[in-house]
Amino acid sequence: MSPAATENYRKLMQMAAELADLSSAEALLGWDQETKMPRKGIEGRAQVSATLAGVHHERLTRPEMGEALAALRGNGTALDDEARAQIEDLWWSYTRATKLPGDLVRRLAETRSRATAVWAEARAAKDFPRFAPHLKEIIALSREVAEAYGYEADVYDALLEEYEPGARTADTAVVLSEVKDFLVPFLRAIAESRKEIDLTPVLGPFDRAKQAAFGEQVVRAMGFDLDAGRIDTANHPFCSGIHPGDVRLATRYKDDIRVGLFGTIHEAGHGLYEQGVAAALGRTPLGSIRSLGIHESQSRLWENNVGLSLPFWKAFYPSLQATFPGPLADVPLDTFFAAVNDVRPSFIRIEADEVTYNLHVVVRFELEHELINGRLGVDDLPEAWNARYAEYLGITPPTPDVGVLQDIHWSSGLFGYFPTYTLGSLNAAQFYAAAARDIPSLESRIERGDLIPLKDWLVENVHRWGNRFKPEELVERATGHPTRADEFIAYMKAKYEPLYGLR
Ligand code: ZN
Repeated sequence: MSPAATENYRKLMQMAAELADLSSAEALLGWDQETKMPRKGIEGRAQVSATLAGVHHERLTRPEMGEALAALRGNGTALDDEARAQIEDLWWSYTRATKLPGDLVRRLAETRSRATAVWAEARAAKDFPRFAPHLKEIIALSREVAEAYGYEADVYDALLEEYEPGARTADTAVVLSEVKDFLVPFLRAIAESRKEIDLTPVLGPFDRAKQAAFGEQVVRAMGFDLDAGRIDTANHPFCSGIHPGDVRLATRYKDDIRVGLFGTIHEAGHGLYEQGVAAALGRTPLGSIRSLGIHESQSRLWENNVGLSLPFWKAFYPSLQATFPGPLADVPLDTFFAAVNDVRPSFIRIEADEVTYNLHVVVRFELEHELINGRLGVDDLPEAWNARYAEYLGITPPTPDVGVLQDIHWSSGLFGYFPTYTLGSLNAAQFYAAAARDIPSLESRIERGDLIPLKDWLVENVHRWGNRFKPEELVERATGHPTRADEFIAYMKAKYEPLYGLR
């Protein structure tokens, strides 16, 4: 690099480090708000968070940033691969932040906060028409946002880009429809098998403190570093990566042991990803992970491909029985394993099992794609929602609170977010299959309770890279091909065909 380029790069990375610090502070305030903050703190906290967000935006979009980025991008051959990736990542954030006019950002923030409040009321009142005008406004604004960002083929591309950089709607639609074409008849075959699974072993009640202790035992076995993280309780499970040395999991416990246990494993999967980013990427643009489809693959891999597998329970069931001798001492492993893998269509996405879950996502992706493109009107949405639930899941929601009004996403303007959940499931199956090819003893290690070889494989192939590669490139490097549906389908068949006597 020339001395001028070196100096420009040094200045940019200094600005980026300060932006990363601001993000850490914002994340910590967000974590506190969800876990510890007293109820009356909400208004004061909203002001503090808005100020920090404003400072962040002002610093990200300052002219010196744009000038230094333009100079270095025009001089690309002088940079090594990692430096070029850092610059491209910062350029991505800078251009997205500068493309939205301030007036649009303000209108969006106001409309969102009004719409989420009305959505909550409308859901409680089971009253979709009350929410409809606000949803129309949000969709119109989301289209304005997409136009401001720009796109080549599909207006939805510009929104998807926010959550899955580099992904295109047309490709995503193909893999999601492959998932649907497999799952709809598969679910029907499961229903027709008429196998009745006994759920009493998992319904509890199970003592909350003992659930937390067992959860912590599993999280430690996964290799999550509790000196660089912690576990708390909150109303909704989440993971907050303040920075790689401070990664916080939040979970919740109910009588039904599945809620706390698999929620904890899921969030710990996210947490391992945050802890696994290479230390050298700390406080740099590449240190913050952007792809939700990759992030979600890590949580789902641990929750489903590992946590709902027979090898895992061969290792951990004796300890769970010892923790809860009352309810579980006389329940054989096979009975417990069938209960945690129970499949049945239900209305609520976040309570869905692993098989039906992705059909909930496909419904949302198809509908929001049509809404954004103007092929479906808001007034026709509830009917379209119910028709697709009937067609794909075989059930019709009786009221909109357990149907079209159940998720907060649309009221918050989060269009383009839903498909990343299913991309996560597909990537999870693909990463797990690749790890099993690379580590022939993987299953027998898991059966002995040794989860570290898998964790190490994920660090090596996924975590340590941070945001260095676009999702598609990262998946291809780790697994040999981009995200597809076939390994997910093979995984579903291998597990559920024997459980439901389908072969
Ligand atoms: Zn997740």
